[in-house]
Amino acid sequence: MRKCFRRPHFTAAAVAAIAILALPACSSGANEPQANPAPHTPAHWDYDAEGPDHWADLDRDFLVCQRGHQQSPIDLASRIRLSPRDHITIEYAPVPSVELVNNGHTVQANLPAGNGNRILVDATPFELVQFHFHLPSEHTVDGVGTTMELHLVHKSAAGALAVLGVLLQARPGASPFAAVLGAAPAQAEAAITVAGPVDPRAFLPTDPDQFRYQGSLTTPPCSEGVSWTVLRTPVGVAAAEADRYRELFPHSNRPTQPLHERTVTLAGK
Ligand SMILES: [Zn+2]
Repeated sequence: MRKCFRRPHFTAAAVAAIAILALPACSSGANEPQANPAPHTPAHWDYDAEGPDHWADLDRDFLVCQRGHQQSPIDLASRIRLSPRDHITIEYAPVPSVELVNNGHTVQANLPAGNGNRILVDATPFELVQFHFHLPSEHTVDGVGTTMELHLVHKSAAGALAVLGVLLQARPGASPFAAVLGAAPAQAEAAITVAGPVDPRAFLPTDPDQFRYQGSLTTPPCSEGVSWTVLRTPVGVAAAEADRYRELFPHSNRPTQPLHERTVTLAGK
């Protein structure tokens, strides 16, 4: 038997969603089959009425958003000691094309399997599977955010996640993100193919300094165990490209979370 899920202070939509999710589990008797639990569709979430303060209320699978002690994003303090040994290795190369999706929360570019882009985190390889954007930035440095943030999401052979975060600051002129942000589908759940080459190396600053810490997904279900690397120096995004993203997603950032007992390392070369 699973526990019934009860929390106060739901929006009407959330109550409807929780009722649908919780009823099968809570109305079953003692003879409920254990082998085939009812399928669980994650609750709808957003950055407004069902935003970050309420994510844990929306779905029992989102509880770690509120209760976890290794949540992301965080504020990064620039005045910490540089640690040369802890640098991750970034091995990126152009890909012929990407699939660009409006997933209802952001603009996301999916890369084909075996695309050859990877990072090495403490000698473990993680392959680049997708990248996406947030506006404004999710991580802050000394309390100050930037116009947007790019997340390059990598997965290891064992299924672990490592995310490389790049802070984006709006500037005049074009940027390496024009082909992706300019083509972003306006309709939710729409997908298009962006012909490349798309070169992730162009998305990175020349300054190699990296903040590293252990965190989580910044969207529900906020799963922990994510190895985070945030590059210290922002790169430019064209103001018009940021405006175009803002038309689709006026804001798509989770606020910074408590550091608790974690340590942030600043890795430099
Ligand atoms: Zn993200």
